[in-house]
Amino acid sequence: MSRSIKLVDVAPTMARVLGVRTPPTDGKPIDEVKEWGCNRVVLAIVDSLGYGLFKALEPDLPEMRSMALEGLLLKAECVAPTTTPAIASILTGLMPKNHGISNTSHASESEIRSLLEWASSEEVPSAVVMEEEGARTFEGFVDMVMGVPKDLRVEDFDRQILARSLAALDTDPRLLVAHFLGIDRMAHRGGGIVDIRSAASAIDGYLKDIAAAIPEKTMVVICGDHPLHAGLLKGVFDSKYVALILWKKEN
Ligand SMILES: [Zn+2]
Repeated sequence: MSRSIKLVDVAPTMARVLGVRTPPTDGKPIDEVKEWGCNRVVLAIVDSLGYGLFKALEPDLPEMRSMALEGLLLKAECVAPTTTPAIASILTGLMPKNHGISNTSHASESEIRSLLEWASSEEVPSAVVMEEEGARTFEGFVDMVMGVPKDLRVEDFDRQILARSLAALDTDPRLLVAHFLGIDRMAHRGGGIVDIRSAASAIDGYLKDIAAAIPEKTMVVICGDHPLHAGLLKGVFDSKYVALILWKKEN
């Protein structure tokens, strides 16, 4: 890797794969995937998946490990320490000072559009699956918006993200964005490495189900939004890098 990668590079990379025009962004497309010949993208944001945390849990994450081996595992610089501005940067390709979105009410009022809206406005069938308050900010702009209630048990929440992602994939979107929260919620609840590992391992299984459901020539992008920012393990594995995995489904 000749340059440092940041989370703002994710949206321009995905836009280029989809052949969608973007407004000016702070990020740049990652060149390595240019020759992969993909025409669909699934983005799975795995909340709190720091790079060091991923490396520590890797033996228990067979699906992500094999995707990383077959594709690319990058150490991406996170651009915001909390979820809403970080995800806004992932989806807009803009640094937080340029998108100005620091909470979901800002997101609702913001005039700034994201990859999901760029794609939808160019007739690229798109779907987003996330916690319902965040999901609501996309209503009216994106073809398929599926929210999951926040108050579900940690384990059930991510299972519902999977179920709705599979339902969305049934409609053959060219872009799906899904946000898994289990690791972060375990951390906020004061969970230790055993709890974090179990949440990560569940997500790994869900990613396997998603990978089985997508057509070939789909690029799968998996990334953390920020390193662990709460609980016992805050600062233990990472200070500013998250895992970014890019993989292409073949056959
Ligand atoms: Zn987060």
